[in-house]
Amino acid sequence: MKLKPQLDEFTAAKNMAEIEPPLTGQQAQVESERCLYCFDAPCITACPTGIDIPGFIKKIANDNLTGSAKTILEANILGSSCARVCPTSVLCEGACVLLDRDEMPIKIGQLQRHATDHVIENDIQVLKAPEVRSGKKVALIGGGPASMGCAAELVLLGHEAVIYEKSPEAGGLNTYGIAYYKLPPRVSLEEVEMIQKLGVQIECGVEIGKDLSMDELRADFDAIFLGVGLGNTRSLGVPGEDLPEVTEALTFIETFHVSPLHETPVGRHVVVVGCGNTAIDAVTQAKRLGAETATIVYRRGEEDMPAYRFEYELAKKDGCSFLFHVAPVKVLGEGSVSGLRLIRTQLTADGAVEPITGSEFEIPCDMVIKASGQEKRSNFLQSLCPDLSLDRASRLEVDPMTRQTSVAGIYAGGDAVNGGREVVNAVAEGKKAARGMHLEFTGETVEGPLQHTRMGSSRPIGSGFDNPVRVSEAGKS
Ligand code: SF4
Repeated sequence: MKLKPQLDEFTAAKNMAEIEPPLTGQQAQVESERCLYCFDAPCITACPTGIDIPGFIKKIANDNLTGSAKTILEANILGSSCARVCPTSVLCEGACVLLDRDEMPIKIGQLQRHATDHVIENDIQVLKAPEVRSGKKVALIGGGPASMGCAAELVLLGHEAVIYEKSPEAGGLNTYGIAYYKLPPRVSLEEVEMIQKLGVQIECGVEIGKDLSMDELRADFDAIFLGVGLGNTRSLGVPGEDLPEVTEALTFIETFHVSPLHETPVGRHVVVVGCGNTAIDAVTQAKRLGAETATIVYRRGEEDMPAYRFEYELAKKDGCSFLFHVAPVKVLGEGSVSGLRLIRTQLTADGAVEPITGSEFEIPCDMVIKASGQEKRSNFLQSLCPDLSLDRASRLEVDPMTRQTSVAGIYAGGDAVNGGREVVNAVAEGKKAARGMHLEFTGETVEGPLQHTRMGSSRPIGSGFDNPVRVSEAGKS
């Protein structure tokens, strides 16, 4: 049965509206004044881009929103989207000292959003590239967060940066692949525009290896940055997977990022296979787009799920269901999906998943969404350049300081290197790669952001940009 949209325009828009309303000016003022403006602030150490958090909060308290946004964007050019998508409870907010006093942590993400929204909505360009240019040119393959972080830093250091993106719009996952109610694509596209105004050139609809070759790039540019992300979702490997109502989570999410929400075809009874953060995005959005039931099936237990606890709680609040210790055996249906056959699983002594013989059962559904992790793009990378070194997990190997790959002049960052982490990690890695190229071009080392201590600014220590500390999530070790 062909899937149909389930909701009218008004209801779809209401259900998918941003989950956290923005702070009012007064709320931001009150919240900013709760901050202790700590020296050695642990929130900075927990931020992978090392944003001077007490510094930007102090500026909000002083009613200097533009200055506040400048502090944020100097450290993290995607500060607006990161304010919405960062798992702040395991990053800055999870490290806030107020938690030690049994108080709520400062709403750092919300304050960051308040400041960055101010400059983006009012079209205030707070960063400016130097007028004197170095003459060095870098090509960046892929238009996602890692390339954005790298390209912005390159132009701020005086170099030229050209991003090649095969999709019609840049921004990568931020534009196409994050839950709509967390990050509407508008926010990502506004950031892309801001980065273009900084001087970054973006060529969309260009596929490297097809429209342009690596040899052409290597001839025309002084260095290349690979920000290619991850590939397709892993296959389920079960019969029936080729039925038309079986789709990948990112494909489903992309559907309503490129066409109106109320035109999104969705099943009445949706099953999502997998239990990471993308699986949660898919199941909650299926529910919010009108599915009567939306269920996650996961081969391990609740305690093993890769999704953050707050994402899990959100999905339960949305009315989504969870089936743990089950694995798909077959997608049922003749010509269209009518159900999913599952088998119960258990963990062996060494933690492997094994099916329990004779425990198969079926659940009815009319749509199956695969969210069981993404494949690495090793074939694509090696087709671009066979000399690139990959590790045993098929991640690109890079020098930890300069982010140069095993091939001179080729740098990399983001999911293709780290295997799939947060947007903020991708931005930081891209920025480090830009500094690695700058060192190669000029011999100069760029430092910072530096975190000042109570010993004074003469003894700065490295910020979270150098060595971010990750806070344990409540309920998880
Ligand atoms: Fe403010 Fe909390 Fe950071 Fe201290 S740890 S500076 S109180 S946000």
